[in-house]
Amino acid sequence: MGKSADLIKEYFSTNQDIEIKLNFNLKKYSTMRLKSQGDLFIVKKSDSLGKLTKFCFENKIQYLVLGMGANQLLKEKVELPIIKLDFELDENYLDELQKSYSLPASINLAKLSSHAIKFGMIGWEVFTGIPATLGGAVFMNAGTNLGEIGELVESVKYFTREGKKIEKKVTFKDFKYRKNLFLHPGEIIYEVVLKNNGQKKEISEKIKKYLAIRNESQPLSKFTCGCTFKNSSEICRAGHYLDIMGMQGFSSKNFKISHQHANFIVHFGNGTYSEVIGFMDFIQKELKLQYGVEFEFEVEH
Ligand SMILES: Cc1cc2nc3c(=O)[nH]c(=O)nc-3n(C[C@H](O)[C@H](O)[C@H](O)COP(=O)(O)OP(=O)(O)OC[C@H]3O[C@@H](n4cnc5c(N)ncnc54)[C@H](O)[C@@H]3O)c2cc1C
Repeated sequence: MGKSADLIKEYFSTNQDIEIKLNFNLKKYSTMRLKSQGDLFIVKKSDSLGKLTKFCFENKIQYLVLGMGANQLLKEKVELPIIKLDFELDENYLDELQKSYSLPASINLAKLSSHAIKFGMIGWEVFTGIPATLGGAVFMNAGTNLGEIGELVESVKYFTREGKKIEKKVTFKDFKYRKNLFLHPGEIIYEVVLKNNGQKKEISEKIKKYLAIRNESQPLSKFTCGCTFKNSSEICRAGHYLDIMGMQGFSSKNFKISHQHANFIVHFGNGTYSEVIGFMDFIQKELKLQYGVEFEFEVEH
């Protein structure tokens, strides 16, 4: 258990809205399922999140914010306290259409896709099949060939490092490829308002078809963190180059390059952060050597 986690625990031990799990096994908290241990603070209400960020600011405590961990590699021993949100949404909220959608950052995109299929929500197809919480998806401006989630966001509510609540109206200009341009380090999104752009029957079919394509082309039943490298441009795609190099199936220790999609690294189950980073470094150097392109890591580490 880290000193900072100790301090937080002492201060918040009677706060019912913060679940504290110290020196906890974090394997299940990222989709890559690396061996990992750390101090986890699961926050259930926004007021408590504000208090927690303020406390961390006043005590100069840094932290890591975790969504579903679908784009996050966790170290064997995570030194920083981890903040994870688990906010409730009224269980009937997504049974009906809303004018616009005020949603907790912790909601799983899969639930939103179900709503999109049910009503044919125009524009909501862009995040089809992305494993993520809404907060993580907005932070990353997650997207597919169909578009990016940034196009759908009306406003974002977040806490600053100092624990101040901000509500920011946003447009697609506040996002770039796989990033947002408005959050500063340590700021935590707790709510997102998504647009209702109207409904069209065909959208439901489009989402179902796209899900089927993803199921075929990506190793979705394996432990991965999605695409390992960012694409340099539409025509300069890391997976495509790795395909040409015949790297599918190439393995090192507990990891291998997927046969299904060469930009995915599959984890067999017992690997660690340093092993996967070593593997990624190796692949990155090979790509540079063969094609002269330095592909950036897409995954946070
Ligand atoms: C099988 C698979 C397929 C994938 N396919 C795609 C795809 O098609 N397109 C795509 O874009 N991505 C894809 N990804 C990557 C991943 O799903 C996205 O990056 C997603 O946005 C991560 O969301 P998360 O909730 O898991 O965030 P995490 O991975 O937990 O965190 C990602 C970043 O967001 C920050 N963050 C998380 N929540 C918050 C919050 N509430 N406030 C502030 N910061 C926050 C974290 O600190 C971290 O920096 C895929 C991943 C997998 C495993």
